[in-house]
Formats: sequence, structure tokens, C-alpha cells
Amino acid sequence: QCERRRLLVTGGAGFIGSNFVHYWCDRYPQDRVVVLDALTYAGNLQNLEALEGNPNFRFMEGDICDRLLIDGILKQEGISTIAHFAAESHVDRSILGPDAFVRTNVVGSFTLLEAFRQHWLKQQQPHHYRFLHVSTDEVYGSLGPADPAFTETTPYAPNSPYSASKAGSDHLARAYFHTYGMPTLITNCSNNYGAYHFPEKLIPLMCINILLGKPLPVYGDGQNVRDWLYVGDHCSALDTVLHRGQPGETYNVGGNNEVKNLDLVKTLCELMDELAPKLPVRPSRDLLTFVKDRPGHDRRYAINANKIQTELGWTSSVTLTQGLRLTVEWYLQHQDWWQPLLSPEYQAYYNKVYHG
Ligand code: NAD
Repeated sequence: QCERRRLLVTGGAGFIGSNFVHYWCDRYPQDRVVVLDALTYAGNLQNLEALEGNPNFRFMEGDICDRLLIDGILKQEGISTIAHFAAESHVDRSILGPDAFVRTNVVGSFTLLEAFRQHWLKQQQPHHYRFLHVSTDEVYGSLGPADPAFTETTPYAPNSPYSASKAGSDHLARAYFHTYGMPTLITNCSNNYGAYHFPEKLIPLMCINILLGKPLPVYGDGQNVRDWLYVGDHCSALDTVLHRGQPGETYNVGGNNEVKNLDLVKTLCELMDELAPKLPVRPSRDLLTFVKDRPGHDRRYAINANKIQTELGWTSSVTLTQGLRLTVEWYLQHQDWWQPLLSPEYQAYYNKVYHG
């Protein structure tokens, strides 16, 4: 499959989507990459600034629920691959307001699938076409301390409006393969971290609060376990799935990095104490504050990534120690990126979540 691909990347101005666009444009400069993003609070054109002027790259502002718009892009751009990242992605926001999650994650994903199906049906060489649906391990629900990690056959048991809406879109992507033979691929990945991560998420939130000398809010007893993957490794996994994955298959993606939230925050404190030239409060772990637990908070996620490793030959390459250091350095060096995101709207949301 060495012919020139023409990709539509939805949600390409968000965290993982923008990392993926950079990854793809660096690695496959001959490919056409069109980003469609509604620029919600989580979308940021600065994430794609470095691609301005690249003739193979195009940004389009728009909504994945807009069928006419999508039909037009697929046709005019001759799109052969969709990498679908666009979503409402934050569990805490899904608890405060689930509507947007059902609209974008379920209705929007359906709109894209159906538009792509009609487009794919008209092609003479449809076997090159791919619809990659980027999803999360949260669809599998919560694990107990001794449970085996999630595999691709673990039954779905989503617990938050976010994971339920992602589960709904996973089922639609699966059904489009089984019913219509459309070449969909699904990936379920563990928690990502790295550059361009919006401040509301755990790792950037802690980095930023340490730099500002603000309390570090840890939910409940801090013993919830998450399995972390450096975003660059997620991008290489998606590349592998697009090139070597079997249509109709699901692949779990993870880096075998299970860590308790409290331990992760303590590690970030140590890294900041070491790397930041000046901090308002040092040692930064003095800022640790336990807050009321998130409703329905899943206790543990863990990914078994054997299938993508053995069948497709993918492995992660960045260890958690390396990745956290890179990430802390990035937040230290990019205060101009995150400072403007701490808007009054963001502060209002933050206060609602952490101070009721
Ligand atoms: P993000 O919130 O940073 O980015 C989402 C992007 O989608 C934003 O740029 C936003 O503007 C855009 N968007 C939202 N609604 C839209 C709509 N209706 N039309 C067009 N664009 C819209 O999210 P992320 O963390 O980069 O996650 C990307 C994808 O990866 C999501 O589908 C998410 O479920 C999945 N995922 C995330 C993680 C993680 O740890 N962040 C892990 C596994 C899977």
C-alpha cells in the first residue's frame, strides 16, 4: 500500500489528533491530510501552526454532524482514509453535561460512517479504503485489583456518559463492517499523555497547578489505577493499524504502565521540583489535596495489547519515565500555549468540578 493516501483526520486540532497529524505529515509527506475540526473548547489551531504553508495539508473548521459538509469534503478531496478522533473526550464534563457527548460521539460518528459508506460504494478500487475509529479502553468498564487486563473480547460495560457514548460509536463502526463490509478498524487505547494535552486532564492539570502554586486535587483516596501511553506511541500504533490491520478487527493499544493516580502525581511533583527553575511552592507535593471522588469513578483500567503486538508487530517505544520527563519539559517550555487556555469559562468549569 505505497500509493499516496488522502486522509481526513477529524478532531485533528485536539490533543491526540494534532499529534497524529504531525506524526503523519513527518512520516508520509507525500500524503494529503485534511483536518476537520469544530474547534470546541478543546480544539486549538495553535497545535497545527507548524503545518501552515504545507501544500499537502488543509484545515477545515466544521462539525462531524454536518452531513453535507462531510459529503463535500470526501468527494472534493478524494478521501480514501478517515482517521476519526473528533469527540467530546472528558469524563468530568460528560457528568456535568452529557448531551454534547451523545451528539458528537454517537450522532457525529454515525454521520461520518454513513457519509463514508456512500462515498466508498462509488469507488472503483474500494479495497484501499479505511475508516479508523479511535476509541478508548474505558468502554470496558472498571477492573478489580486482581482482574486480568482488558482484551479485545472483554464485554463492554461503560460506566460514564463519555464511555457509554464511545461504546455506542464503537458498536456502529463494528456494525458497518459486519453489515455492509465497509473496512472499519477500531482501536481501544489506554490513557494518553504528552504535548498539546488540554489543561483539564490529569497530567497537564497537575503540571500547571504545580507551576502556579495551586492545590493539586486528587480524587478520593488516589488509589485509582490508570494505564498510561505516550501519545507518540499511540500515533505509531494507529499507523500500524492503518497499514497492517485487518478490516473489521479491533485492536487494544497500551504500554503496560499501570500506576495509581496518587503515585503519578507524586512523580510529577518530583520531576517539577527537579526541572523547574522557580516554583511558588517547593517541595510541590505540599500542594497535594484530596477532593471528593468523581461520581461512578472507575477504579482500575489495564490494557492487554498482545494482539497488536503479535499480529501486527507494534510495540511502544517510550517508557513512562521518559515520557513523563518529556511531558513536564514540554509544559515548562510552552507556558504561552497553556496560559491562554485558563480562560474564565475554564475557571468556572474547574470550580464546578473541584469545589462543587
Ligand atoms: P480532545 O478533546 O483533546 O480533542 C477532541 C477534538 O475534537 C477537539 O479538537 C474538538 O474541537 C474536536 N471536536 C469535538 N466535537 C467535534 C465535532 N462535533 N465536530 C468536529 N470536531 C469536534 O480529545 P483527545 O484526548 O485528543 O481524544 C481524541 C480521541 O481519542 C477521542 O475520540 C477519544 O475518545 C480518544 N481517546 C482518547 C484518549 C486519551 O487519553 N485522551 C485515550 C483513548 C482514546
